[in-house]
Amino acid sequence: MDKINVTKEYTNGETTIVWQSNKCMHSAKCVQNLPSVFQPKEQPWIKIENALDEEIKNTVAKCPSGALTIKHKQ
Ligand code: SF4
Repeated sequence: MDKINVTKEYTNGETTIVWQSNKCMHSAKCVQNLPSVFQPKEQPWIKIENALDEEIKNTVAKCPSGALTIKHKQ
């Protein structure tokens, strides 16, 4: 896989998932925990609109590498 270093943001207007490619270990914990949102074969691979904020928050908290974080609208 290419060693590209990108930070991507996926928002539903209120909540934003931030993903940092250089930190991601591709452990697929996010995919297992919330497959409706984390779909690595799709483009975009994160579909934030497919889950509730609470589910997203819980899944992001379980990311072992810290590649996923959440930003809330100020
Ligand atoms: S849980 Fe975190 S480290 Fe694992 S694939 Fe998802 S974003 Fe990457």
